[in-house]
Amino acid sequence: MSLFHARQMDAADPLRRFREAFVGEPGGPIYLDGNSLGRLPRRAVGLAADLVERQWGERLIRGWNDGWMALPSRLGAKLAMLIGADPDEVLVCDSTSVNLFKLAMAAVAAQVPRRGIVTDRRNFPSDAYVLQACGDLTTADDAAAAADRGTALVSLTQTCFRTAALYPLAETTRRVQATGAWMLWDLSHSVGAFAVDLHASGAEMAVGCTYKYCNGGPGAPAFLYVRRDLQERLLSPIPGWLGHADPFAFSLDYRPAAGIQRFLAGTPAVLSMASMEPGLDLLLEAGMAAVEEKSRRLCDYLIAEADRQLAEFGVTVASPREAAGRGSHVSLRHPEAWRLTQALITDYAVIPDFRSPDLIRFGVAPLYNSYEDVCEAVGRLRLALRSKSYERYDAARLAVT
Ligand SMILES: *Cc1c(COP(=O)(O)O)cnc(C)c1O
Repeated sequence: MSLFHARQMDAADPLRRFREAFVGEPGGPIYLDGNSLGRLPRRAVGLAADLVERQWGERLIRGWNDGWMALPSRLGAKLAMLIGADPDEVLVCDSTSVNLFKLAMAAVAAQVPRRGIVTDRRNFPSDAYVLQACGDLTTADDAAAAADRGTALVSLTQTCFRTAALYPLAETTRRVQATGAWMLWDLSHSVGAFAVDLHASGAEMAVGCTYKYCNGGPGAPAFLYVRRDLQERLLSPIPGWLGHADPFAFSLDYRPAAGIQRFLAGTPAVLSMASMEPGLDLLLEAGMAAVEEKSRRLCDYLIAEADRQLAEFGVTVASPREAAGRGSHVSLRHPEAWRLTQALITDYAVIPDFRSPDLIRFGVAPLYNSYEDVCEAVGRLRLALRSKSYERYDAARLAVT
């Protein structure tokens, strides 16, 4: 396999044209960190200028009625199409951590006298911290098996941020629900990377992030999903004015809005929320089936090349080898992962990221990554390993890795 072969696969790639929809010139760095922060869609550049100069600069307060107020539900409806939900079951708002808090608190309150929450050891730390604040938290290797009659909620991140190991959504949800507990999924590393079908899973709730594979921009608001039949039974623990049935009545008595709207808290972050729309539109144009297919092929290719070119240097594949059990990044393990990541970024113009203690994560974003990107990234990592050029880097870590 060679660069020639990689270019042949790119030429046959049905999603090839989406690469030009993102900022990033040919010959620039190879970006394999879309699992942490997706690339900037070109359409978002003009949109952001319009948002600031015209919508904010000229329309001022009138902007709220021009469309700003509807952003959480209008974008929620688009996001719903990526995760197998109905338009009135999803809102875009707040951060993933805050949405997780809102839904976990609401679930525990609705499941009284059950108070238990179960998660697993591989969850993202923020999720574990938040869940600890919402009930009696148990951390288990097999969360569904650990749920019992005292368990109100099981909350798991579908795609593990370290290794991309994947939970089967429907099967896990069924096991959890068999105990009487509710299921709350964090889809942060799933949404926009492969097709998710919440309805088919039957899960009660979900949250997730839009700045990773949805290319929503740094700090773009997150989303939340509540199955329609539960919405009227639940209350938000942050009963802010925008989740009120009639915010502009300015009544001092809280009355929850109908349906999913009650999970809004305060004023939406208009600039970052509106800027996320081009990223969602691009995924909808491409179709999640095609995105998933390419993600699998690119990750399979990365693993095959890592085995072929890097094994002799002590690099092992930490991600599942079976595509069906893996999200859209590949983690490679090496004792010098931190210094190798530094060398890749600074000397070899390849941008992955590092996860403590010994993983280099290569995020594969099917809309803009190519087989050539993967081929080059593995080839350059081989060069770094062979030359030991990484040894001149400091072992001390930066604040953001
Ligand atoms: C990225 C990510 C988050 C991010 O949470 P924020 O509140 O948006 O910072 C949360 N959970 C998981 C599993 C993630 O991957």
